[in-house]
Amino acid sequence: MTKRIVIIGGGATAVSALAHVAGAPGIERITLVAPGAIGFGTAFGTTDPTLLCNTSVDVTSLLSEGRSDFLDYLAARGHPVHRDDFVPRYLVGQYCRERYGQYRDRARATGTKVTHIRERAVAINSLDDGTYQVELGDGATVTGTDIVFCAGAETPRLPAEVSAHQGDPRLLESPYPADRLRRLPHDARVLVLGSKLSAIDAALVLSRQGSRHCVLTSPSATLPAVRTRLRRSAEPAIGRRDWAALDPEDASFDGSLTRMLVRAVRRSHPTARGVRTRSGADTATRLLHEEARFADDGRVPWQDIVAEVIDALNEHVPHWRPRAAADVLARYRTLMSRYISAIPVRNAKLLASHAAEGRLRVAPGYPRRIERTDTGWRVHWPDGSLESFDHVVVAAGYRTRRLTGTVGRLHVGYDGDGPQPELLADLRIRFPERATAERIWVLGAAAGARHPIVNYLRAAAQHAAVAGGQIVRPRTDAVAPLAERTAL
Ligand SMILES: Cc1cc2nc3c(=O)[nH]c(=O)nc-3n(C[C@H](O)[C@H](O)[C@H](O)COP(=O)(O)OP(=O)(O)OC[C@H]3O[C@@H](n4cnc5c(N)ncnc54)[C@H](O)[C@@H]3O)c2cc1C
Repeated sequence: MTKRIVIIGGGATAVSALAHVAGAPGIERITLVAPGAIGFGTAFGTTDPTLLCNTSVDVTSLLSEGRSDFLDYLAARGHPVHRDDFVPRYLVGQYCRERYGQYRDRARATGTKVTHIRERAVAINSLDDGTYQVELGDGATVTGTDIVFCAGAETPRLPAEVSAHQGDPRLLESPYPADRLRRLPHDARVLVLGSKLSAIDAALVLSRQGSRHCVLTSPSATLPAVRTRLRRSAEPAIGRRDWAALDPEDASFDGSLTRMLVRAVRRSHPTARGVRTRSGADTATRLLHEEARFADDGRVPWQDIVAEVIDALNEHVPHWRPRAAADVLARYRTLMSRYISAIPVRNAKLLASHAAEGRLRVAPGYPRRIERTDTGWRVHWPDGSLESFDHVVVAAGYRTRRLTGTVGRLHVGYDGDGPQPELLADLRIRFPERATAERIWVLGAAAGARHPIVNYLRAAAQHAAVAGGQIVRPRTDAVAPLAERTAL
């Protein structure tokens, strides 16, 4: 049977999915369904050159194995880059866009018809002949034998404190496009809800011009750590057996994990002067300043095990009992997010200098209330003090699109919209009522239902390799676990 593949989504993950099937024999048609241009997505669609990747060129590739394809792309265009560099995110967007054209042409050269329908997918219906019908926002449909779902996370998460003010001109529901931030008055007082990557983008853009005063606030009141690279290492610092021996249900888990990580850091940096776990800095911006200084001095010994730890967590956590996995991830969420989503030293130094000049602050607490006034916003801080702002920018993350529903009909929705089918190790979905998995693969952010770290192009490219490998192989119902296919 010839295959008709429907890829839902148009960001980097969709391009990676295309890369892993383009040119394979037996594919009649590949249809990409996405409302906008293919290749950019939320993170890589920005045009501002100060907004850098927080992942090195080495791991920011549409292909997870071998030499970085992104490095080759940049080198071929004359960019003097090293595999450790953090480059502007718009370059990743250009890379994905260009590779999209090349993979499309490769598929066409082998007789596959490739089309892009500029619409949203709203549902997937199972048809009696074992194929699927994807329903689009305009009521049209497209059918396929194999469906790849990579609709990412592009809807901003609105915190409860401001959700009643949706549409208010003084509430920016997302920092993107960054032009809107640049257009705010140069003396504006701006409250940014969030303290992670998109909040940092907002702070960098806002604090750059004029005398704006910018305050970041989040429940954690912490900023990401600072690093000089995120790259794969040639030799793993932790053995597979050590990971496999970790038992999340054992009382000694935390101690074993800590010892294993400290040993790995020492192994990857034998000359490092001890592994520092505590700092004397008493505010988020002082800690930022201190970590930027350490990074400048080359004292970031933990950074070279991060890529390996991410791969290993994505490989091993799905095999833990769901309850135990959820407990461990909840316990380590803040720590993981701080180090896994650490920021480039260059941006850390910029933020630290804005803070030193009084243009940027990280609030030590999260507002008890945010009130709309005639002229802007009044914030009630936990210590009882009040502060006025002209604008509020929401940078509190994005809602992941999920497939929800039951046998026969799945909706493209969000968590809480309905039951979600099981996501298997081979990234196909299975309904509880059915013995066999569907030919529907879930990649990127939505694969977070199974893998703990998905907000990372390398993880999405690994998912695409797993799905692509199955799609182009003759049909089988056997499960090929992610672990077997993602070794470096
Ligand atoms: C601020 C920020 C910085 C980041 N920096 C990095 C980084 O430096 N390195 C890194 O590896 N990762 C980074 N990430 C994570 C990055 O977003 C992911 O690695 C990856 O690029 C996500 O791509 P995606 O295609 O899965 O999703 P998205 O970029 O969210 O794209 C989703 C696509 O699906 C489309 N879509 C949505 N709904 C539908 C629908 N119903 N039907 C059809 N199409 C739909 C959208 O229009 C879009 O084309 C960052 C994320 C953020 C928020």
